[in-house]
Amino acid sequence: MFTENQLTEIKSLLQPNKNVVIITHYNPDGDAIGSSLGLKHFLKNLGVDATVIVPNDFPKFLKWMPEAKKIVIAEYKRKIAGEAIYHADVIFCLDFNAPSRIGMLGDWLTKSWAKKILIDHHQQPEHFDFVYSNTSIPATCQMVYHFIEALGKEDLVNQDVAECLYTGIMTDTGGFRFRSTSADTHRIVANLIEKGADPSMITSNTWDTNTVSRLHLLSLILGRIELVKDGKVAILYLKRDELKEFGFEKGDTEGFVNYGLSIAGTKMSAFFMEDLYEDFIKISFRSKDDVDTNAFARAHFHGGGHINASGGKYFKNIHETIEDFKEKIEEEGF
Ligand code: 5GP
Ligand code: MN
Repeated sequence: MFTENQLTEIKSLLQPNKNVVIITHYNPDGDAIGSSLGLKHFLKNLGVDATVIVPNDFPKFLKWMPEAKKIVIAEYKRKIAGEAIYHADVIFCLDFNAPSRIGMLGDWLTKSWAKKILIDHHQQPEHFDFVYSNTSIPATCQMVYHFIEALGKEDLVNQDVAECLYTGIMTDTGGFRFRSTSADTHRIVANLIEKGADPSMITSNTWDTNTVSRLHLLSLILGRIELVKDGKVAILYLKRDELKEFGFEKGDTEGFVNYGLSIAGTKMSAFFMEDLYEDFIKISFRSKDDVDTNAFARAHFHGGGHINASGGKYFKNIHETIEDFKEKIEEEGF
């Protein structure tokens, strides 16, 4: 958590006359949108208006969240996003820890004079004015709640705040399953339910949103899942043509990588996908126990993330990428 002195300074920055911006990472997920909107609603209850800006669009299954429609998507509203950052006195940076993770916003953030406040749970944060970084907490949404507690303002957590924070904790813990899910996580979730978050509504809005074409896409990749390293590593992939054929929409492949890890005996799952528009391969890694995919993604695939969940990019074709991946896991002795 921030120190007492930092909290005092942050409180003095959070005044009604200040311009406050909240930014989160490229390809925003449930934790990114949940923490950003959750903090925005909390700040509103504190009397401070904040603008949430994301670098690019986010999946439909997150658009039910209160005020999701007011989020400024920089790829569509470049001017509004640029001006908001230019005029900002305070910028909250949530669920990412390096300007390289926010696309075109990175440059603007670096140049801005605003006080930058980081709340994030990824490994190896870069420099920000105020840093609350903890890689043992499963979701940035949980950290936003701890921040609200540290300010002594839990009474300002209303239903809107609760729904947003609940969503991010639920998605980043894979439904309260992943390793860093703790008693603290469940205590906070219990509080959020008491404040009005409805678990069944949130689960159904977020996760019971499959389309038939998404299920067909899933069946395609499950049909050709490959196991290597004596069944310890699962490989899945999707090509651009296939994405087009099944009418791919943003978010459709969310969670696919986890199927590799659901196979008994696997320690790591890797999902490779051709980008729909640009010539690179987007990769997702997931692992069990102490298999460190963050270090692996950083070392070999221009990426990073957490120990058990990370991602990266590669600039060869999909088959070469998968071959290189197989070599790298051999080298690393997985
Ligand atoms: P996903 O596989 O769901 O896209 O990402 C898993 C985790 O890795 C997330 O926490 C995400 O922030 C991080 N991540 C995904 N792609 C990248 C990347 O290209 N670079 C870095 N540094 N982190 C990534
Ligand atoms: Mn997160």
